[in-house]
Amino acid sequence: MKKITIAIDGYSSTGKSTLAKQLAKHLGYVYVDTGAMYRAVTYFAMQHGYINAESFDKQSLILALPSVQLEFHFNADLGFAEMYLNGTNVEHEIRTIEVSNFVSKIAEVSEVRSKLVEQQQQMGKGKGIVMDGRDIGTVVFPKAELKIFMTASPETRAQRRFDELQSKGQNVPYEDVLKNVQERDYIDTHREDSPLLIAEDAVEIDNSYLTREEQFEAVLSLVNEYLQDLN
Ligand code: C5P
Repeated sequence: MKKITIAIDGYSSTGKSTLAKQLAKHLGYVYVDTGAMYRAVTYFAMQHGYINAESFDKQSLILALPSVQLEFHFNADLGFAEMYLNGTNVEHEIRTIEVSNFVSKIAEVSEVRSKLVEQQQQMGKGKGIVMDGRDIGTVVFPKAELKIFMTASPETRAQRRFDELQSKGQNVPYEDVLKNVQERDYIDTHREDSPLLIAEDAVEIDNSYLTREEQFEAVLSLVNEYLQDLN
């Protein structure tokens, strides 16, 4: 059975990772969450004092980039790979609202992007991969066999992120979460290097009113159609 590359892009909190994990599990593919990589570099920058609410020392971050080592280690209990930064599991630390508030600024830096894109392309060399992010179908794998672009209203997405944070015991006001979603949308779509945009050959899915199952079934039938033609 031939394997393909599935690129999933879209706005924050559109459920990209949920869909990507479902697909990877069903197909026996590797799932890569590229947002986690940008988040880990952000956490690194915060730890070293390169970024805070007042300032961003971009040059120092660029100089320190060679010492940033990112790895995914599969956690069989959780059923997905966790993010490690220089040998330490940072899966919990990278999901805070503080990291979310700075990550789009870090993701604007071309040197950060080229380092991560190179690593992502290496991971996808053998195909059989589902990767989600903002530039997967446009920059990382422009030749991916299947490209999905996910959208939903900012309010729907903020509510989802709010519920997720609450379930992890992080009590952040809904208004702050909505503001973060809107700010990230703006920076992600307006940055110079690899802005978030819909690849010409991507299938767009607005999941504001779709259940997880409906969405999964819709995308799975696209995958199966492609695989039938291929094999
Ligand atoms: O997917 P997630 O919301 O965790 O991504 C966090 C941030 O990382 C995004 O808002 C975006 O700024 C950045 N990102 C990116 N390119 C990717 C993945 C994430 O710029 N491929």
